[in-house]
This record gives sequence, structure tokens and C-alpha cells, in this order.
Amino acid sequence: MQAMVLNRLGAALEWTELADRHPGPGEIRVKVLACGVCRTDLHVVDGELPHPRVPIIPGHEIVGRIESIGEGVDGLHLGERVGIPWLGHTCGVCPYCVGQRENLCDRPIFTGFTRDGGFATATIADARFAFPLGESGDDVSLAPLLCAGLIGWRSLVIAGDGKKLGLYGFGAAAHILAQVARWQGRSVFAFTRPRDTKTQGFARSLGAHWAGGSDEAPPEPLDAAIIFATVGDLVPLALKAVRKGGRVVCAGIHMSDIPSFPYGLLWEERQLLSVANLTRQDGLDFLRLAPKVGIVTKTTRYPLRQANEALADLRAGRFEGAAVLVP
Ligand SMILES: [Zn+2]
Ligand SMILES: [Zn+2]
Repeated sequence: MQAMVLNRLGAALEWTELADRHPGPGEIRVKVLACGVCRTDLHVVDGELPHPRVPIIPGHEIVGRIESIGEGVDGLHLGERVGIPWLGHTCGVCPYCVGQRENLCDRPIFTGFTRDGGFATATIADARFAFPLGESGDDVSLAPLLCAGLIGWRSLVIAGDGKKLGLYGFGAAAHILAQVARWQGRSVFAFTRPRDTKTQGFARSLGAHWAGGSDEAPPEPLDAAIIFATVGDLVPLALKAVRKGGRVVCAGIHMSDIPSFPYGLLWEERQLLSVANLTRQDGLDFLRLAPKVGIVTKTTRYPLRQANEALADLRAGRFEGAAVLVP
């Protein structure tokens, strides 16, 4: 197999020939068909997440086909198309796992961060954490659903059922969520980098009721806001944009420091929350819903060898929607 390997934090990924591994008990080997590039991959490469492992193969929005099955795997078959998400393994016995909050597991393993991921021609996964994808939808379009979609969905559920929803940072996750929120009958207010009229137009094309810069106030108070951008300065702005009792959800795994702000922004029962990881139930719920919504993902394809270019373009905001690597 070949892979784009991170050998040193902060360095470029390197094209590497690796021996094929056989799946161990409970594991599957998957031939990678497509793997999305997520903002979290930038945090992995930049060494911004605690307890990194190197060398590592990044990538946790994997669409692939099972080409080998280890002992003791039930319910999956050779040739089946599956999706492999960020949550790669949980301990199953900690209080969070036992309490249906496996996203907060004390001893988790994350795909593309603490176990090798999908910037490769093949990968090994814990079979219990792979989602059967069926045969409808093409591989590249489905890939962004596996993190941008899933974590976006968990964030949307946690944001509550308010009708007026703000989305700060209109990238891969928001462009999927905007479609879900519209389908649910909500109004979407999209916040982009100031003066980024191109992305604001993109948001309107997906049905956003209003689109503007993150430095602008929405035309009416919001019921909830989700922050996908990694910029802590957005937190007080979003609190200012939501009504009394409104909710602000931080959906990213990493954010720059949040500046201090007057208590008045939080007062009147506004809530500030974060979303961490996903549970398998989030994945099942969202992947069942996605075809009903008829989500159309906007993707830019890169050959696997150009993973570094894809990461650089994501960092610079050079494409709309999501980047997807194809081996
Ligand atoms: Zn656990
Ligand atoms: Zn991700």
C-alpha cells in the first residue's frame, strides 16, 4: 500500500510505500476509494492537539470497500462499501461509554490521529466503528459526510430546535448543515470572513436566508449559533447575536483563545457549549437522514499524492465546500 505519512509535526506529508497489513481480530482492511480532508487534519499536522502520535497517516472521512476481514467480525461482508469516521475505537467500560456518551470516552482511539487513517490506498479499522454505506451516492460526494456531516449533525442537535440558526464559518460542515437545517424548515444565517462575498454567495445558493461577515450583526436575533471556524473571537460575537435563552455551540476540536467579554453577553440564560467527537448513534442517525434531505456536497478532488496541496488550499480557504483525496 501507499500512504501520505506525517513523520514529524508541522512537516509536509511524505509519499511512502508500506507493507500491507492483515486485519487483526475484530478488524477489517478497507481499500480506500475517497478520503475527505477535514480542518482537524490541519490541527493534527500542526501538532495542535494533545497527545499526538507520529508517524501517522491522517484522514478520517474514509469511504472504502472491505477487502479483508479479521476474526470475529459480524455483519460485514467482503466488497461492502463502508465509511470510517474519526471515532476509531472506544474502551466500552468507562463511565462515558456506559452512559451512552462514548464520544467522551476516557481511552478513545481516533482515526487519522492515534490510529492510521485514510490518506492512503488502504487502511485497517475496528469493524464496530465502520458504517455500512450502501451503494447509492458516489464515493467522493459521500466522504465529507463522515466528519463534516456527522459532527455538524451532532452540533445541530445540541443547538436545539430553534428556527433561526447562525453558522459561523461556512466551510465543509456548514455547507452540509445549511441543507439539513433548511430541510427542517429553519432559517440559516451564514457568517463568513469579513468581505468574503464569494462564500456569502455560496451560502445564499444553498438557501441561506442571510449571509454576511462575522463582524456584522444578523438582521434579527438568532435562536442558536454554531461556530465552525477556529477563531475564539467569534464566541462573544455569537453570544451577542443570539436572543435571551439562546445557545452558542463551538463545534471545532481546537480554537484560538476566547477573549474576555462582559458577563452581560452570557446573562439571560444564554448557553455556551462545545461538541466533542461523535457517537456511533450520531453516525447511524445522520447517515439515515442524509438521503432523505438529498444533501449535495460540493467537493474539490485531489489525487492522494497532492494531499499537501489540499491541506494548503484548505488553510487558505481556496475552495468552497470540501476537499477529497482520491487514491
Ligand atoms: Zn470509554
Ligand atoms: Zn474531521
